[in-house]
Amino acid sequence: MAKIPVDELAITRAYGPHVSAKIRGAPGEEPERLVKTHCCFCGQQCGIQLKVRNEQVIGFEPWEEFPFNRGMLCPKGVKRYLQGSHPDRLLTALARDPSQSSGFRPIAYDEAIAKVAREIERLQETHGHGSVGVLGGASLTTEKTYLLGKFARVCLKTPFIDYNGRLCMVSAGAANKKAFGIDRTTNPWADMIGTEVIWLAGSNVAECSPITTNYVWQARERGAKVIVQDPRITPIARTCDLYLPVRPGRDAALFAGVLQLMIDNGWIDRDFIEAHTVGFDEVAKYCREWTPARTADVTGVPERSLRKAAELWGQAKSSFFFHARGIEHHSNGVQNALGTINLVLASGRLGKPNCGYGTIVGQANGQGGREHGMKCDQLPGWREITNPDHRKYIAGVWDIEEKDLPGPGVDAYELFRKIDAGEIKGLVSICFNPKVSLPDSDFVTRALEKLEFYVAIDFFLNDTARHADVVLPGSLHEEDEGTVTQVEGRVIKVNKAVECPGDARQDWRIVQDIARALGRPKGFTFDDPRAIFEELRVASKGGVADYSGITYEKIERQMGVFWPCYAEDPRTGKASPDHEGTPRLFAPDSYNPVAKGAGRFYFPDGKARFNVADYRTPADDVDEAYPLFLTTGRVVSQFLSGTQTRRIGPLVSQYPEPRIELHPRLAQKLGIADGEWTTCETRRGTITLKAMVVTTIRPDTIFIPYHWAGEKSANRLTVAAQDPISKIPQYKVCACRVRKADGAPSYASVLEPQQ
Ligand code: SF4
Repeated sequence: MAKIPVDELAITRAYGPHVSAKIRGAPGEEPERLVKTHCCFCGQQCGIQLKVRNEQVIGFEPWEEFPFNRGMLCPKGVKRYLQGSHPDRLLTALARDPSQSSGFRPIAYDEAIAKVAREIERLQETHGHGSVGVLGGASLTTEKTYLLGKFARVCLKTPFIDYNGRLCMVSAGAANKKAFGIDRTTNPWADMIGTEVIWLAGSNVAECSPITTNYVWQARERGAKVIVQDPRITPIARTCDLYLPVRPGRDAALFAGVLQLMIDNGWIDRDFIEAHTVGFDEVAKYCREWTPARTADVTGVPERSLRKAAELWGQAKSSFFFHARGIEHHSNGVQNALGTINLVLASGRLGKPNCGYGTIVGQANGQGGREHGMKCDQLPGWREITNPDHRKYIAGVWDIEEKDLPGPGVDAYELFRKIDAGEIKGLVSICFNPKVSLPDSDFVTRALEKLEFYVAIDFFLNDTARHADVVLPGSLHEEDEGTVTQVEGRVIKVNKAVECPGDARQDWRIVQDIARALGRPKGFTFDDPRAIFEELRVASKGGVADYSGITYEKIERQMGVFWPCYAEDPRTGKASPDHEGTPRLFAPDSYNPVAKGAGRFYFPDGKARFNVADYRTPADDVDEAYPLFLTTGRVVSQFLSGTQTRRIGPLVSQYPEPRIELHPRLAQKLGIADGEWTTCETRRGTITLKAMVVTTIRPDTIFIPYHWAGEKSANRLTVAAQDPISKIPQYKVCACRVRKADGAPSYASVLEPQQ
């Protein structure tokens, strides 16, 4: 049973989080070399040059030529190098051992791999192949995500693989697929400069994707109007032209109401709708219910602001619409995303200069990580695991019988329900910290405790890995090479700066070592990431996410390649080694292998789809007992579950502890002053944090950032309701109540090492 072996504080004292030292190397020491690579954190994947000396990353220099960020970095990028040579870095394999004060003892790497193989074999022989599940991370390179999908299905023969992109991009991806037949943002960010209107829905760009802010501001300096839709006046909202303070969970209603106003005023592009789309009439019929008065009533956005949004968006000649987790982390997240797409399609502003639509990726490889087979229902190249032709093609690439390729698995949360039900008894996880990142985390902990065997691969002992029977020391971003696909759809290359320290290995080597120890090495004998990428190119060929024309050399030459990039011209079938990729989707003269000349969108008739994006009240909505909305999100100096950023001193100092943000009117009503201990309760749990009284939030809503673990974890409160299509959890709204705490929480009296 994968129970935490000893007291958690004892594990923390041994394995962290501790904060890193503030400097690397001696003051003034010159680097031996500069390595051009990318930031390891968010989906912007900014270019950076790492300074290396004595096999240690000692700092960074801007990489000014890299076209996306031109040398700019946010606080996380500036301090990313401090994760290397970190005191918490795992240098050996570990085995759980409750007799040790730290709960673990170091073991030889080969011994650990042999134990993993023995346990997987035992479980699968007794309970079948599906008794072992795999969870991957969307920060992994695309090569690793491809290999992990193949490992689960070919080596372990289990259908149960999913990834933490389930918590990030899946609502957007599902909506894009339904509307456009392809799941990628439509334009390079540079296209934003010169546009007339930018609408940001549920996207705290200044904190979650800071370099995007620079593009928004450049556009604004050239006259663009900026609309921000958010329950919080986030930093970008403080400089916008129109702020829509939407009540949490009401976004689909807002989009329907604005579209109705555009229709009423004749601010839609009828010619485009007629020529390039289907389904508009059903959507228009649905929107008729959404009068301005009803929309204002449901959304909490004043009628005059709704009218202004319709006017700005409807009358523009060029525009960009962006959304992020704020509208996607909902049990109707797909509908919300479809609502935005309906506004974009009705405007007809796609496939033109300065006109675009996109979802702002959160995780480092949130885009590439969802394209090549780590998702439970997908095969490489964005192929479908239920499509017989797609299965046959991939089985051919993997040299197995199609019948031996498992069918669809289940989403990451459902996988935990299967663990809880005893159906899945073994788990392999890599760079995923579900104990902090999944909703209703007390349930996740209970499920973890039921595992018969758990192996975690990571470079720090994250909060979930504390439950592991075996921990294998994986690689940091700068210790391996491979590709990732950043927010614009640009495939870029991460380059190795230093070797893995101690017994740590590149993750793809560890996966292959397990396959070999299981006696199932066929298909897992790659010598390097380049070899994996070469197979991935073949596997993606002919899929919507076609990477077949991308090479490491082309990425370097062009500073990134926008997919699709074809090895063979889809029009002629002739080799096209010079294909440069596809920076802008849906251009009028574009050709794609699905429409085959019938139109610009990726459906056989070439037309985009309007979809009725109906509003549904969120699960666990406010009521008398729980009268306030809780919404969760990020702060600029922390990243996801904090495994890395809670270990980097300057980032910890910038925002050391989570706070409960609440409006002064609410604080006054509850008798809570700024900085006082405050308790938030939902139907799942209770946490006590200090209050942060701010005027930048709706008075009916509180906000808690989610980067912390244990008693400070916002996800003890969140609800595990999921979107029925994308299965994304509803992180962005649930009902809560708040009161002044009875006193300081018990954790306040015991300092953790990073404090
Ligand atoms: S914006 Fe994202 S990729 Fe760029 S430096 Fe910050 S965290 Fe890194």
